[in-house]
Amino acid sequence: MECELCGLVLDTERKVSVGGSTVSVCEHCTRYGKEIFTRNVEASKIGQSNYKIPEEAFLVDDFGKMISQQRQKLEMTQKEFGVFLGVKLSELKMIENGKLRPDDTTVKKMGNKLGLSLFE
Ligand SMILES: [Zn+2]
Repeated sequence: MECELCGLVLDTERKVSVGGSTVSVCEHCTRYGKEIFTRNVEASKIGQSNYKIPEEAFLVDDFGKMISQQRQKLEMTQKEFGVFLGVKLSELKMIENGKLRPDDTTVKKMGNKLGLSLFE
């Protein structure tokens, strides 16, 4: 990626608004426009997202796996666990696959029942 104003090779992406259009610029050229955001290009390349959703407390990365393993250790079926939580079986399956982020109340219930701390 290069600065669209001076052509310098960028290791950090900075987007600024210049005359209503958005351009990627180097550190020096940010002064020509209104800065919109700055992002480290390397970090985004290896898939680290800076855009975590901050509305709820963060869960540990592999919460689904932890839940699933601990539930099996305690010899609980998904159905039983779902009934305990008040969560549909299909939803619990998605939670254990890490595809669905349960609400905080459910997370707490799960943690208490399984003896896990699931919040990051
Ligand atoms: Zn530049």
